[in-house]
Amino acid sequence: CGIVGYVGDKQAQGVVIEGLRRLEYRGYDSAGIAVVCGPDGTAGSGALASDKKAGKLANLEKEIADHPLPPSTTGIGHTRWATHGAPTDRNAHPHLGNERRLALVHNGIIENFAELRSSLEADGHELLSETDTEVAAHLVERELVKGVDLTAAMQAACRQMEGAFTLVAIDAQDADRVVAARRNSPLVVGLGEGENFLGSDVAAFIEHTREAMELGQDQVVTITREGVAVTNFDGTPSDGTRYHVDWDLSA
Ligand code: GLU
Repeated sequence: CGIVGYVGDKQAQGVVIEGLRRLEYRGYDSAGIAVVCGPDGTAGSGALASDKKAGKLANLEKEIADHPLPPSTTGIGHTRWATHGAPTDRNAHPHLGNERRLALVHNGIIENFAELRSSLEADGHELLSETDTEVAAHLVERELVKGVDLTAAMQAACRQMEGAFTLVAIDAQDADRVVAARRNSPLVVGLGEGENFLGSDVAAFIEHTREAMELGQDQVVTITREGVAVTNFDGTPSDGTRYHVDWDLSA
């Protein structure tokens, strides 16, 4: 029920966990995090590191304290309110694609997930959870491995999905961007200096920036360290609505 994305110069783990804590008030049953890192567990790109636990955020924090994630400045996080599949470690987000190249978190419901799942399984994909979300992870990665970037892969996958969703994803091979999409579900961008944020609401990043951008329906947003780019699901350029968050009003 809460979503955080970050790319910048800070350690993503701290920013993401802190953002998830700020979103705890929304309610949840599980929590998870994923970051882009080097293949040998160092900083860089080429691999993903991920951890997820049923129960309170404290369970995830203990897990990370026992098994630290590699250094990374590109990451996503999630608190789940289960709709498809029980609140277990396995069903918690992030979910990975078939080739373990893409990690994705999701709020909402993908209504046509059963038929999409059948098409993926017919394609040789092995799905490990009972969630609608894992279908989205496999779908975006299936587009990604065709050779397009994460932004184009997200757009192509969104054109195949029905329902209500906020999706946020990272690509192991691209530590420079986090990509999100929204349809009938909330998503806000936090605009920083040399860093940018994604959140289900501004509480996720209010400690770091008061400059925000609200997205319209059926939009995909790409954040990098330098900026933000918004498109429609068909790839045509679009824009969000920028605003300043008033601390007193949001308190
Ligand atoms: N439908 C997804 C699931 O059950 C996402 C639920 C949510 O919004 O947290 O895993």
